[in-house]
Amino acid sequence: MSHDIQALDRAHYLHPFSDFKALGEEGCRVIVGAEGVYIIDDQGNRILDGMAGLWCVNLGYGREELVDAATRQMHELPYYNSFFKTTHLPAVKLAETLCRLAPAHINRVFFTGSGSEANDTVLRMVRRYWALKGRPDKQVVIARENAYHGSTVAGMSLGGMAPMHAQGGPLVPGICHIRQPYWFDESSGQNPEAFGRDCAAALEEKILALGEDKVAAFIAEPVQGAGGAIIPPDSYWPAVKAVLDKYDILLVVDEVICGFGRLGEWFGSVHYGLEPDLMPIAKGLSSGYLPIGGVLVGDRVAETLIEEGGEFFHGFTYSGHPTCAAVALKNLELMEAEGVVERVRDDLGPYLAQRWAELAEHPLVGEARSLGLIGALELIDPATGERFDKSLGVGNLCRDICFASGLVMRSVGDTMIISPPLVIQHGEIDELVTKARAALDETA
Ligand code: PLP
Repeated sequence: MSHDIQALDRAHYLHPFSDFKALGEEGCRVIVGAEGVYIIDDQGNRILDGMAGLWCVNLGYGREELVDAATRQMHELPYYNSFFKTTHLPAVKLAETLCRLAPAHINRVFFTGSGSEANDTVLRMVRRYWALKGRPDKQVVIARENAYHGSTVAGMSLGGMAPMHAQGGPLVPGICHIRQPYWFDESSGQNPEAFGRDCAAALEEKILALGEDKVAAFIAEPVQGAGGAIIPPDSYWPAVKAVLDKYDILLVVDEVICGFGRLGEWFGSVHYGLEPDLMPIAKGLSSGYLPIGGVLVGDRVAETLIEEGGEFFHGFTYSGHPTCAAVALKNLELMEAEGVVERVRDDLGPYLAQRWAELAEHPLVGEARSLGLIGALELIDPATGERFDKSLGVGNLCRDICFASGLVMRSVGDTMIISPPLVIQHGEIDELVTKARAALDETA
C-alpha cells in the first residue's frame, strides 16, 4: 500500500514547507493512525510524537469525546456563518469560555480559521485601533527576527524568518524586526539576565529610531517556538513591558503555540505576567482536531473598535465555524475537567525538566532547556565545543535518526526541539529521553 500512496503523493501533492523535488525523490512515510501520544505508520510502527503533530495535539490522539462533539454538531448544524446578523451556540459558548480562561481584561474574541489568519487580523486591528484613536501615523509593528507568525503574506511579514522573506516578493510594509532573546546563539558569553535586558533595550532603540508616534504595536511569542524553542532570560519580558508602557505601544502576544497549557498556564502570557492587548490563538485550542483560531481582544482595543469603529471590514468564511467551535469547546472542557494545565505546571513540566537536563551531559549537547512541555537541545561539535558547520546538516541527520527509531523530534538548524502532547505520561517521557539519547549517540 505504501508504495501506491507514495507514487500518488509524488505525482500530485505539493507538501507545505517542503523541497518538492527532493521530497519526490525520497518519498514520504505514510501515517495511517494515532493513539495517545503515538502516531502509527502503514507498516504498523508506533512512533512517539514528540511534537504533538505541529505543537497542537495537546490532548493526544484518539479522544472519542472530540469525535462525538464533531459528529453531534455536524448533524445539528455543520456550517453556518456569523456575518449577517446571525450567530450560533458553539461559537458563542466558545467565546464565553475563552474569555473566562483568559486574563481578566480580555472579554472579546474574533474567530479565524488558523493562526496565520489570526495574525492577519491582528495587523488590521492594531492599525485600525490607532486610526480610530486619531493617531493614523501609528502604523508600524515591531516584530522579532526568527519569529514565526504564520504563512500568509501578513503572517510571514510579521514573522522574522529570512528564507520566507526571500521568496514571493515584497513584504507587507510597516513591519520591522529587532533581535531575538536567543541566549545560546547570540549572547557572545554575556550573562543571561544582562543579555535579556539588552534585547529589550533593542526594542526601545528601534522605537526611538522610528519615532514613538509611528509605532503601533510589538508582537512576540512568549517562548519562540518554530524559531527553536527559545526561552527568554527572566529579565526579558519585564523589561519589554516597561518599554511598551513608557511609549504607549500595544502588546500582541502570539499564543498560537504557548496558549492552552504548553508552559503550564492557560496562556504563556500568564506565565510571564503579561497583559497583552491582543492574543492570537489556534492549534491547541482544538487540540488540532479541526482547524480553528482567533484573536483574544483586550478591553482597551475591543471597546474602541466597538464604540467608534463602525463596520470592521474583515472576516473569514470559517470564522467561528460551528463544528470547529464545538470541538474546541469540548477540548477546553476536557482540559479543565482533567486538570491538564495544572498537571503540566506541577508534575509533567518539572519531570521533563529533570529528565531533559540529563541530556546536557551528552558530548553533542551544548545546552538542554525546557519550560512546561516545550524543550530544546543545542547540538555542538564535541571536538571544538562550537556549532557544527551548517552545511553538514547535523540537526537534520539527528531528526531522521529519531524518526527511523520511533520518535518525532524536529530540528531547526542544529537545535533539536520537542513539544509533546500535554497528556504524556512519565514512562513516555522516559521513552522520549531514552530515544533522544540513542539518536544523539548515533549522530555523534
Ligand atoms: N503563530 C505561531 C507562534 C505559530 O507557531 C504558528 C504556526 O506554527 C502560527 C502563528 C501560524 O498558525 P497556522 O499554521 O495555524 O496558520
